[in-house]
Amino acid sequence: MTQVLLAYKSNSAGANDPYTSLLPVGLGYINAVLNSHGYASQMANFSKFSWKETESIISRMRPQVLGIAQFTHNRFESVKLAALAKKINPATFVVFGGPHATHQYREILDRHKQVDAVVLGEGEESFLELVATLKDETPRLAEIKGIAFRTANGIISTTARPPIADLDSVPFPAAYMDNALGVDLHRQLEFIITSRGCPAACLFCSSPLFWGKSLRLRSPRNMVDEITLIRNRCGLIYFSIRDDTFTADKGRVMEFCRLLRKEKVFILWNCQSRVSAVDEELLFAMKRAGCECIQFGVESGSPRILKALGKGINTEQVRKASALVRKAGMNLSIYLITGVKNEVDADTDATIKLVEAIQAHDGQVSPLAYYPGTGIFSKDVKAGVIGREIFNEDRHEALYVRDDAFVGSSTQRLLETVAKVGKGAGYGERDFQSHKKLLGYCHATNIMSGEMYEDEGRWQLAEREYREIAEREPENPWGWLLLGALYGRLGALEKACSKYKRVLTVVPAHAPAFSDLGELMMLMGKTWEGMEYFKRALELNPYDPRAKQALKTR
Ligand code: SF4
Repeated sequence: MTQVLLAYKSNSAGANDPYTSLLPVGLGYINAVLNSHGYASQMANFSKFSWKETESIISRMRPQVLGIAQFTHNRFESVKLAALAKKINPATFVVFGGPHATHQYREILDRHKQVDAVVLGEGEESFLELVATLKDETPRLAEIKGIAFRTANGIISTTARPPIADLDSVPFPAAYMDNALGVDLHRQLEFIITSRGCPAACLFCSSPLFWGKSLRLRSPRNMVDEITLIRNRCGLIYFSIRDDTFTADKGRVMEFCRLLRKEKVFILWNCQSRVSAVDEELLFAMKRAGCECIQFGVESGSPRILKALGKGINTEQVRKASALVRKAGMNLSIYLITGVKNEVDADTDATIKLVEAIQAHDGQVSPLAYYPGTGIFSKDVKAGVIGREIFNEDRHEALYVRDDAFVGSSTQRLLETVAKVGKGAGYGERDFQSHKKLLGYCHATNIMSGEMYEDEGRWQLAEREYREIAEREPENPWGWLLLGALYGRLGALEKACSKYKRVLTVVPAHAPAFSDLGELMMLMGKTWEGMEYFKRALELNPYDPRAKQALKTR
């Protein structure tokens, strides 16, 4: 019997989404804390499992405690999962957590008797204490801060739990994930979070209410240690830092970049931030340390819509920050929102103009939606526009604030603009020359420039870019990896093999390089060697698609 199972199941559409199908990062932290305190905790991502398979896995595991991460998009799946667990074993204690559960705990506990408790907000300490008291003959739930549960006298929420002051004290999820079910670690561990809390007050976002308004930061040392651990264990060399505003503390990010370079942790990475939280010095340092893309919440090009969203930025800041990103030579990705009350075509026109001016490389457009814990939701509940029960009554994945024709047409226009601008926004030879002049050598620029040459079929110039990385930084896997891919593409198979082998001397756990070698060996007619490489790739990553395919077809 499993002591604790921490589970997630996306809705059926989300199961095919590259991001929604992943396990929420927060669940990994709770799992790490429980394991480091001696509890047998395991994680399962049921997103790609059928309900039948899910039932059979839970029946086999029979967890004493089941924690379920609930977001708005998977609110119904979470409730169904809880009911399934109770059907299998009524004694399983079912705990919900996550942003939707936190801000709708009363409605959930009232309506869904299969949910025994909800952990409110930051979950590590509350969940740990909850699991501890559940071992007692008479669990003392009321003494645990930061949870909600049913009593004979109704639903109660306990005293709020103070936020964890020292985030470095929380163990790394990657250290305790080897037995996670349905989790492709090589994809999952690409996503890391290095801070919590947000002092801003965007009306569409529930993050400040969930994590708190004060910003808490992991130290640069701790961040680099986590990346190094994942790189060594799983061979990952690309990371996505999912903090709401990664650059909120300039000094911390500068030190993080310094450590990455000093310790030769050669990775590529991306992050999210606010246009008001970057400057030239910082962006240059980030690019030199491998940051190839930054995502900004631009939301709108209309000042009155930005104001209505409570975004706290202006279009001038968007223009300035975007120009600096282009100056540093990173890719610029943006988030846009439309479908705001009273938004009209002229507002969309202003957004289109802004997107064209800043030359974003790509972006996402989302119609404004209600989420519990957001200012927009509470305001409209208070005004009687919607009820708090809306999330139970409406089964749509997202509940949009407007559903009139404007939203569809504005979304479409913005998507078309983002795609069109993105096509022409790529950097050219002159841009790369300028980036090199301003920043000096850095592997991220060479990689981006080499890829541009490859797209144009200018192979020798691409080779020159990658070769420079390999010569300047022999410990940098990116130079060898891209040379291997380039030679493979050009049919120089022996040369390609030798480069992939170099990748493995610096990052021995890099599963894709084993699969690359497997493919090259097969092309050279060395079937046995090829299979051995594929086997090794699969040992390192049981989800490696090429190795799986190659070994399946034998
Ligand atoms: S959108 Fe970003 S900046 Fe705004 S409140 Fe949410 S986390 Fe903070």
